[in-house]
Amino acid sequence: MRPTEPLTIERVRDLWAWADGERARGRRIALVPTMGALHEGHLSLVRHARRICDAVVVSIFVNPTQFGTGEDLESYPRDLDGDRRKLAAVGCDVVFAPSALEIYPEGDCTRVEVGGPSRGLCGRSRPGHFRGVATVVTRLLAAAKPHVAVFGRKDYQQWIVIRRMARDLCLDVEIVGVPTVREPDGLAMSSRNAYLSPEARRQAPQLHAALLEARRLHQQGERSATRLAAAVRQRIQKAPLAELDYVEVVHAETLAPLSRLRAASGAELPALIAVAARFEEARLIDNIVVGPESDASGGAGPRPEGP
Ligand code: AMP
Repeated sequence: MRPTEPLTIERVRDLWAWADGERARGRRIALVPTMGALHEGHLSLVRHARRICDAVVVSIFVNPTQFGTGEDLESYPRDLDGDRRKLAAVGCDVVFAPSALEIYPEGDCTRVEVGGPSRGLCGRSRPGHFRGVATVVTRLLAAAKPHVAVFGRKDYQQWIVIRRMARDLCLDVEIVGVPTVREPDGLAMSSRNAYLSPEARRQAPQLHAALLEARRLHQQGERSATRLAAAVRQRIQKAPLAELDYVEVVHAETLAPLSRLRAASGAELPALIAVAARFEEARLIDNIVVGPESDASGGAGPRPEGP
């Protein structure tokens, strides 16, 4: 029987000792990095981790280096006790809840910079964001020594950036991406949905509706990235509160911009259609993958879900 209450660990050296013990007993460790304020999206990652590994560590750390100036670091929702209760219910062995000083020790001057897939999409709108993400994930991987780290495809670019980083740095860890969990009306679950006013909450599902519209056009044969992106923009106009940041169509594995979803050879290309929009205080992102199964779209359970 696994314990119902996860062990809470705050120090890196204590997590090392725990991980060494698990590894010595031949147990496979999964790490699920989060910033807390847990919802069903996070819990689906934990359940997935539980299915594929013997021991699960969930880190809860609101990482200051991935927030830009003027972003919501101070107001980001925090609820460690509530998070612990939710994690006890899904089966998590360790909650790693370090202080900022534990992750960024006095005198810290090391950052991890990933090029390629971090450059576009949110990397363009949020300069330095992925440097902060890559840096904290490297430290969390070093702290938890997992065999597998589990990420959500809601933050698709983050998943691809971390996968690229793990390959480039020869990290001995498998990076897994789990499909997006949605509210019944299609809105992708996010800790930031808590910022939405009732009217913004009513309009926010238009992001997903717009992406489904693009998928429908793709199924009908549309292969122009410009036309698919235009259809998404047009649909999002049905949400007058939405201030669009970007709609982009990129290769689903490299995140390089595409103009057509069919190569010169005639081969179909796997494409990510990604959107970011601000609804009042909340900056929301969402995406959908269309086209053939790719390395990115396969491998971790079902394809991103439909409506
Ligand atoms: P966050 O706490 O927002 O940093 O998210 C922690 C992890 O949960 C990331 O890998 C996210 O991609 C993932 N995640 C957040 N929301 C969802 C969702 N609705 N469905 C699936 N995964 C999610």
